[in-house]
Amino acid sequence: MTPLVDVYVALGSNLDEPIAQVRRALDELDRLPLSRRIAASRLYASRPVGPQDQPDFINAVAHLRTRLSPLALLDQLQALEQRHRRIRLRHWGPRTLDLDLLLYGDEFLTLPRLQVPHREMATRAFVLLPLLELAPGLRLPDGRRIAALAEALAAPGEVEVLPDDAS
Ligand code: ADP
Ligand code: MG
Repeated sequence: MTPLVDVYVALGSNLDEPIAQVRRALDELDRLPLSRRIAASRLYASRPVGPQDQPDFINAVAHLRTRLSPLALLDQLQALEQRHRRIRLRHWGPRTLDLDLLLYGDEFLTLPRLQVPHREMATRAFVLLPLLELAPGLRLPDGRRIAALAEALAAPGEVEVLPDDAS
């Protein structure tokens, strides 16, 4: 059987009550087969990447432990996106739920459907800040520290923690 692997998943939503979408998805991540959710960050709000004529994003990161293979996990994440009736009108446009696999243990994967570590995670405040909250000592598989990457961000202030009772 596949050994247990620590994985980190980034969640994002900016349509159809995004706070509720992200909270629901965090619960659903806890129920994936052969997997357990170990921790979840607080919710964060960020300005959209790309087109600015769309609502702010709500973001979070979840830490799971799984026996799913990388592609089986990606299948589960994509099925969950579909259940949130994700609509993709344009690249970097609004979406009800985006689930990105950031890290799968210490693996480097370059497959047609899956690149791990996620290709943009090292420069995105809305990924690094919740990840840092969950795992302050974490390093990327290439040895770079998440904390150092977060310190090097050009505009960390564009991401804010939401109050626990935000709705
Ligand atoms: P983005 O997240 O870049 O805005 P999408 O969520 O629409 O865009 O993803 C586009 C494709 O990226 C998916 O079809 C998926 O197969 C691929 N992909 C590659 N690497 C990853 C990853 N680490 N996590 C999630 N999807 C990935
Ligand atoms: Mg995605």
